[in-house]
Amino acid sequence: MFKSHRIFLGALIAAGAMTTPAAADADVNIYSYRQPFLIQPLLDAFTKKTGIKTNIIFAKKGLIERVVAEGANSPADLVLTVDIGRLDGAKVKGITQAVSSEELNANIPGKYRDPEGHWFGLTTRARIIYASKDRVTQPAISYEELADPKWKGRICTRSGQHVYTIGLIAAMIAHHGQADAEAWLTKLRDNLARTPNGNDRAQVKAIFAGECDIALGNSYYMGKMLTNKKNPEQKDWANSVRILFPNSAERGTHVNLSGVFLAKNAPNRDNAIKLMEFLSAAMAQELYAQVNYEYPVKDGVAASDFVSKWGDFKADDLPLADIAKNRKAASEMVDRVGFNDGPSS
Ligand code: FE
Repeated sequence: MFKSHRIFLGALIAAGAMTTPAAADADVNIYSYRQPFLIQPLLDAFTKKTGIKTNIIFAKKGLIERVVAEGANSPADLVLTVDIGRLDGAKVKGITQAVSSEELNANIPGKYRDPEGHWFGLTTRARIIYASKDRVTQPAISYEELADPKWKGRICTRSGQHVYTIGLIAAMIAHHGQADAEAWLTKLRDNLARTPNGNDRAQVKAIFAGECDIALGNSYYMGKMLTNKKNPEQKDWANSVRILFPNSAERGTHVNLSGVFLAKNAPNRDNAIKLMEFLSAAMAQELYAQVNYEYPVKDGVAASDFVSKWGDFKADDLPLADIAKNRKAASEMVDRVGFNDGPSS
C-alpha cells in the first residue's frame, strides 16, 4: 500500500513544526516497475522543488494488470516502466491518456515519445553486442551480420518472445520489410550456440564460460555486472567481453526506452504532468540515466563518465512508435521460424 504521508503530516502539525506548502495535500501516485533506488532520489528532488508529495508502489510484475483491474477507481496517476512493448502495450490496453505538454515535447525528441502523447521515453538503452575479448577481434558489427555463416554456433540470446528481442526484430521489420527480416531471423536462429534461454546477463556468462562468442544484450547490464557487490562473479563475466554498438557507423544502433505514461483515470492529473515534466528536464535526466547506466533522452544531457567509457555511438533514428507498430508481426515471426527451438541445421 501507499506509505501514508498524512500520518507524518498530522504528527508535524501536532508538533507545531509544519509550514504547509500550498500543494501539501496534492499527491501524485506512481506505480513503478523501476526499482525504488532508481526513482526515490528524483521524487525527493521533485517534492523539494514543488511541495507536491509522491506515493510510490513498486512491483516487478502485475502493475499494468492492476491498473486494468482497478478501472475507473484506480489511484494510479503515473506508471513508470521499461520497453516500448510495455509502454505501447498499455496504450493498446486503453489505460493511458494523451498528454500535450510543450515542455515534454521540447525535452523529449519526437522519436522517443508517442505521437499522440500516450507514452514518453525518459531514458534510452542500446541493444548491443557483447563480444568475447579473446575470441572476437573485429572492431564493429551489424545486426544484419548476425545472419552470416561465420557466426555459426557462436551466438547467444534470450528468448525471441522477450520484449527486448521483439523490439529489435520489430526494428528489423521496419527497416527491411517482413520477408527480408524473416530470412534474417531464420539465419540468425541457425547461428545460435544454444536454444534461447536465460536473461541478458546469462548470455554474457555463457561467453565467459566459452559457450558462445557474441550475445545480444541491453547496454546497462554492463554497468550492473561491473558494479555488482552481491554477485561479484558477474564482474568476471563483464570483464570477459567488450561492447560493440551495431550499425553505429550507418543507420545507428537499436535503442529502446524506459518511460512513463499518464493513467487514463489519473486522479491527480495536473500534478502528475508536473512530475513528468520534471523527469524530462536536464537535472533529472542526468540523474535518472546515471543511476541505471542508461542514456538521457534529452539532447545535450551527457551520459555518465562510467557509461561514456563504453564508447560513443549513433542511435537509430527510427521512431519507437514505428517499432511498436511491428511488435505483433515480430512476435508471430518468432513463432513461425521456431526461433526459440534453436538451430535447425
Ligand atoms: Fe532489463
